[in-house]
Amino acid sequence: MLLRMSTMLLKTLREDPAEAEVPSHRLLLRAGYIRRAAPGGYTYLPLGKLVLDNVARVVREEMAAAGAQEVSFPALLPRDPYETSGRWTDYGDEIFTLKDRRDTEYLLAPTHEEMFALLVQDLTSSYRDFPMILFQVQTKYRDEARPRAGLLRGREFLMKDAYSFDLTDEGLADAYGVMRVAYQKIFARLGLEHTIVSAMAGAMGGSASEEFLALADVGEDTFVGCAKCDYAANTEAVVTPAPPAPEGTPGPLTVHDTPDTPTIASLVALANERALDGRTDWTAADTLKNVVVTVHHPGGEPELLAIGVPGDREIDLKRLDAALAPATAELFDDFASRPDLVKGYIGPQGSKIRYLADPRVVAGTAWLTGANQPGKHATSVVAGRDFTPDGTIEAAEVRAGDPCPRCSEGELTIRRGIEIGHIFQLGRRYTDAFKLDVLGPDGKPVRPTMGSYGVGVSRAVAAVAEQHHDERGLVWPAEIAPADVHVVAAGKDGQVAAALRLAGELVAAGLRVLVDDRPGVSAGVKFTDAELIGIPHTVVVGRRLGDGYGELRDRRTGGRDEVLMSDMVAALTTV
Ligand code: ATP
Ligand code: MG
Repeated sequence: MLLRMSTMLLKTLREDPAEAEVPSHRLLLRAGYIRRAAPGGYTYLPLGKLVLDNVARVVREEMAAAGAQEVSFPALLPRDPYETSGRWTDYGDEIFTLKDRRDTEYLLAPTHEEMFALLVQDLTSSYRDFPMILFQVQTKYRDEARPRAGLLRGREFLMKDAYSFDLTDEGLADAYGVMRVAYQKIFARLGLEHTIVSAMAGAMGGSASEEFLALADVGEDTFVGCAKCDYAANTEAVVTPAPPAPEGTPGPLTVHDTPDTPTIASLVALANERALDGRTDWTAADTLKNVVVTVHHPGGEPELLAIGVPGDREIDLKRLDAALAPATAELFDDFASRPDLVKGYIGPQGSKIRYLADPRVVAGTAWLTGANQPGKHATSVVAGRDFTPDGTIEAAEVRAGDPCPRCSEGELTIRRGIEIGHIFQLGRRYTDAFKLDVLGPDGKPVRPTMGSYGVGVSRAVAAVAEQHHDERGLVWPAEIAPADVHVVAAGKDGQVAAALRLAGELVAAGLRVLVDDRPGVSAGVKFTDAELIGIPHTVVVGRRLGDGYGELRDRRTGGRDEVLMSDMVAALTTV
C-alpha cells in the first residue's frame, strides 16, 4: 500500500477545532482522520477509514480464531421482532424509529439480539446444530441524548456484535469465557489499557455481565477497584453492603421546629446549635435525605418516587437510572402541584408515594429527617418502626474510601474509563420471546440460551487515540496505524524522487507507506504534520541525501537515527 499525500484527500488543521473538547476528538479532526457530517455522525477520511478498518480487522481475526462465524444483517428492521421482545418500548427514546411509504413502522437497530435469535430459529432444528457463535461488524443507530466527543459517543457508529447459542447454562458460561478471552486479545492488540469490571445488564436484559473499560480521564464511566482484593465494578453496579442492625432502643420519634433548614448543611448546623435530643455531635450522616424523582416507565405513566439516602451522600443519577432500567428518572421539581410533598422537609413516615431507601437504611436505624411539615424535622425516625420502605435502591453515590463490598477489608478507589466492550450472559429472554426450541438428544424440545457480546469498533478508534497521543499529535500502535512508515521528502525535487523510490522499495518489502511528496510545502510543516498524523516510523529524506543518508524517526520515543538509504528497508523490516 502506497499513499501519496500530494493527491490524498487530507487537510490538517493548525488550530484546535472549537467543536472538540477531548484530545481524541481534537486530534482526529486536526490530523485529518474524520469530519463531522451530522449530529453524532462522522465521515471517515482516507486516513480514518484505514484505522477503522484495521480495528475491524483485528476484531474479525480474533472472532474467527474464537470460532465465531460472520454474518451481516440490515440495520433497517421491521417493528415486529422488537415488539415481541419488548424492546420497541423498553429501549425508550434511544431507539430511532421511522415509517415507510405504506406507513409500516421500522427501526434502525441499536443491537440485533432479536434478529440473531430469529435467524437461528429459521435455520436450526436439532441439538446437533449447537453450540454456535455468530457475529457481525455493522452500523448501529441510537438516538443518544448527548452525542459527544466525536467517535466516542455517536448516534451512528460501528459495532461488532456477537451472539452465542447454547443448550445448557454451562455451555453459555463456556461461550462467555471464550468471548472474554477473545476480547482480552483484541484489546491487547489494539494497545488499549483496560480493566474488566462487573456491569449492569441495562436494556439488553439478562444476568452476568462485564464491561471492558479503557482507562481514560475523559471516559464517561466511573468504576471502582479494591486495594485489597480483585473486585472491580462499574459504579453503576456497586452493591452497597447492608450494615448490621444497630443495638439499643432508640427514643420516640420527636418533631422539632427547624425553620429555614431546607438543606442538609443548614439542618445539621441547627441541630447542633439547639442540641436536638441533647446531642451536639450531629453530622450529615445522621440525617436521611429524601429526594423525589419522576420515573418514566417505557410506554407507561410517569410515577413519583421518593428515595432516601444518608444525608452525607448525593444521589448519583447514573446509578439511579441503572437501578431503574429500563425506566429512567429525573429530579422532581414541581412541588407547587403536590402540596403534600413539603420541599426540604420530606420524611419517609407515612409517605404517600413509593419510597425506596438506600441499603444502609436497615431496620432499627434512627434518622434525623423531614417531618412532612414546613419548617419541621423529626429525630429518632426509625426504619421498621416509624416507616417501612417499599424496598431498597442503589442510588447513592459511591465514594473513594468506601468499604469493598467483596472483601470488606479494602477501600474502594475510583477511576474513569471508556466502555469499549460489553459481554452478557443473556439467558433465555430472547429465545423465550420467540419460543425458539430445537429437538434435544432425547427427542424432547430444548430452548437455547444466549449470550451477547459487543465491541465499539468506532469508539475503539477514539479510545486508542485517547490513550496514545502526546502534545504534538497521535501516536498509533503499529497494528492499527494507517501506515507503517511515513516517508517525508524534506526538500527539493531530487528528494521527492528519492523519497518515492524508497517508498516503492518499502512497499515491495510488504510495508504500508505514506509518502509526503506535497510540492510547495515546507519541511517544517511536513514534520509537524507527520507528528500530528502519528505513524510509528518516519523517514526523512532530506539534507543528508547527498551523503546517502536518511533520518529514521520513532514517533513514540522521539528517537532519531541516521541510516544509510540503502539500509533503510532492512532497518524498517527488522524493527
Ligand atoms: P454506553 O453506556 O457507553 O452508552 P452501552 O452500554 O449502551 O454503552 P452496549 O449496548 O453494551 O453499550 O453496546 C456495545 C458497545 O458498543 C459498547 O461497549 C460501546 O463500546 C459501543 N457503543 C455503545 N454506544 C455507543 C455510541 N453511542 N457510540 C459509539 N459506540 C457505542
Ligand atoms: Mg448506551
